[in-house]
Amino acid sequence: MLSYSTQLIDEDDIKVVGEVLRSNFLAQGPRVAEFEQDLAKYTTAKYAVAFNSATSALRAAYSVAGIGEGDAVITSPISFVATSNMFVDLGAIPIWCDVKLDGNINEKQIEKLITPQTKAIVPIDFAGKPVEIERIKEIAKKHNLLLIQDASHALGSSVKGKKIGSFADMTIFSFHAIKPITTSEGGAVLTDNEDFAKALRLYRSHGMVKKELWNSDMVSMGYNLRMTEVAAALGSSQLKKIEQFIDTRNEIAAYYDARFQSEKLFLTQKIEADTRTSRHLYPIILNPELHCPKEDIFRELQERGLGVQVHYKPIYKNSFYKERFGNVSLSVANDFYNSEISIPCNQTMSMQDAEYVADTLLDVVYKYNYRGCSF
Ligand SMILES: *Cc1c(COP(=O)(O)O)cnc(C)c1O
Repeated sequence: MLSYSTQLIDEDDIKVVGEVLRSNFLAQGPRVAEFEQDLAKYTTAKYAVAFNSATSALRAAYSVAGIGEGDAVITSPISFVATSNMFVDLGAIPIWCDVKLDGNINEKQIEKLITPQTKAIVPIDFAGKPVEIERIKEIAKKHNLLLIQDASHALGSSVKGKKIGSFADMTIFSFHAIKPITTSEGGAVLTDNEDFAKALRLYRSHGMVKKELWNSDMVSMGYNLRMTEVAAALGSSQLKKIEQFIDTRNEIAAYYDARFQSEKLFLTQKIEADTRTSRHLYPIILNPELHCPKEDIFRELQERGLGVQVHYKPIYKNSFYKERFGNVSLSVANDFYNSEISIPCNQTMSMQDAEYVADTLLDVVYKYNYRGCSF
């Protein structure tokens, strides 16, 4: 099965993990600090704070940003549920903004959703393609809102040569197994704000500060959301190879783009010339006449060895959210969900694999184009 995204672990990764297992430190220690420095250097942000997952990192970021009861947060429904979950758990209200056909938040619709209750804007870089971050930053500044970017897909993506991680007040990355690089499970918040960095470190570790000798003081509420030394060492080792990973994914994507250039049955994600994407995903957007047979298409692609997936069911369609916030329906997000399929595009694939994927996809899509609905 060729996966829509997967990890690539080599002997160097295995060696550094082995070294940590033979050392004295297993829980958070010098390797975590080193990985944080590597991340800050790579993204050009001042501070990096590592966590045991991006979900934990989101939770910490929202919390130290002061997001709480009754605050409204403008965000994208086309994301993994954690993006909204973690501020809803703090008592905040999701205000979902519709997306564009590239899966990213529609920056033109953000301003009309702003009210006196709005506290933050949380865009996500879908598939690794950066959102219109400069425009969204202007909006946040004009209305005095925090900008927290869920860049779980977008480590290594950049706009005009500037890396994602250096734009927003806080930027979150995920190092889950199948994300651009992996620590097995892990995440981080990047920020230029020293106060946020300090508060994030406290939140991550029981809100405790060391005093003299045995004495420590718990100064604020905190948890144990720490990254392990094993994970951090793997992260630093993986980060050395990120350019290679992204180049491979972009080569496969460029091949797909060329194959699908004049395709009439589906769209692909267009990437502007001044933009680099991590290509965490390669999404295709089926034409409306293929919405009906999408299940058949999906099933047959899987049967023929394509580990496809759909990203994402709009967050507001989940029963938890329906019960809490009623029925929400955004037309492009709904269409996007009916249309989207992420096809295999990862750094373990060869160009022969890519050719097989493109051939199979075209074969299947054309077959069902003439069948219509099966019910
Ligand atoms: C994967 C992902 C998360 C959660 O990351 P974890 O590290 O698994 O907690 C959050 N947001 C988005 C957009 C993601 O893709």
